[in-house]
Amino acid sequence: MNQGVIERYRAFLPVSEKTPVVSLLEGSTPLLPAPRLSRELGLPEAAVWLKLEGMNPTGSFKDRGMTVAVSKALEEGARAVVCASTGNTAASAAAYAARAGLRCVVLLPDGAVAAGKLAQSIVHGAEIVAIRGNFDRALELARQASSELGLALVNSVNPYRIQGQKTGAFEVAEALGRPPDYQFMPVGNAGNITAYWAGYREIATRHGLGLPKMMGFQAWGAAPLVLGRPVAEPKTIATAIRIGRPASGEQALRARDESGGMIGRVKDAEILRAYRMLARLEGVFCEPSSAAGVAGLASEAKAGRFKGAGPELRIVCILTGHGLKDPDTPKSLPHKWTTAKADFATLKKILGRNG
Ligand SMILES: *Cc1c(COP(=O)(O)O)cnc(C)c1O
Repeated sequence: MNQGVIERYRAFLPVSEKTPVVSLLEGSTPLLPAPRLSRELGLPEAAVWLKLEGMNPTGSFKDRGMTVAVSKALEEGARAVVCASTGNTAASAAAYAARAGLRCVVLLPDGAVAAGKLAQSIVHGAEIVAIRGNFDRALELARQASSELGLALVNSVNPYRIQGQKTGAFEVAEALGRPPDYQFMPVGNAGNITAYWAGYREIATRHGLGLPKMMGFQAWGAAPLVLGRPVAEPKTIATAIRIGRPASGEQALRARDESGGMIGRVKDAEILRAYRMLARLEGVFCEPSSAAGVAGLASEAKAGRFKGAGPELRIVCILTGHGLKDPDTPKSLPHKWTTAKADFATLKKILGRNG
């Protein structure tokens, strides 16, 4: 039975018997083999596995960290939580705050949040402030609201978030029986790559197992860690990683260097191609940002990184959020759609033409 990440991994998290556990039974998400995608990329059939973080209660990995951050905020006597968000942190904070009976304030970049995520913040009763500015500016304001007004900050600069999110690494290693050889994932504010690396390092220390190469991917127009400098006006269709000044950038670079991995960048067109491939080859619908890691994998496979790999190669892609978060992007993909008169002769003609 799924217990939620705090009960499941209590011994490895900063909680005690006194911590009031606020959980929606997050975690225990599927690790799905992707044989058709593996073949398409020219890899051994058992190589690629997809960690479906969209199966968390609010539809993204943010819930793993939020259960710990909100539980600790409650334990420490907070009355309200605040965050800046491209959408998913806000959705998660809103849901966990509702469950804890806490006030929740979310600062969102005006006009740059996917529809499903907005819907979640609204329905869970968060106070939404649409900032005329980007995520990076919203985060500055959230930090200020926290330090000057005493609201508990639940962005991933909150160390409890990172602690909760590292449980993703525990689950991957348990499901495969060992850590993967490579992990591909999107990088925005860089909290998640920091958390996974912390998780894998703990497993290595505890069980003497190997470490994966950490392969993080940013969007082409929002790639400060690749360029080595902040991006003042980040641009990409992948709104969850539209971040120009990653708060955990240093840690992400350390994960890259210590693991012998890389931080690369992929174009929006590559992200959309990977997004379609996942949906049409494997039946998996993730949000565009989640596909950035898979786009990175496609690019590395094409460049020959895995040439000559044997059947034991294991590559995990973290699909960070559910596709239904962003119901508008699919409309821009080529698809078959005909509006028809309600009779069979017409239908037969259309199907003949399509086939
Ligand atoms: C938050 C988020 C990211 C980026 O994660 P970071 O920890 O900010 O690097 C990627 N994809 C989705 C769907 C997200 O919600």
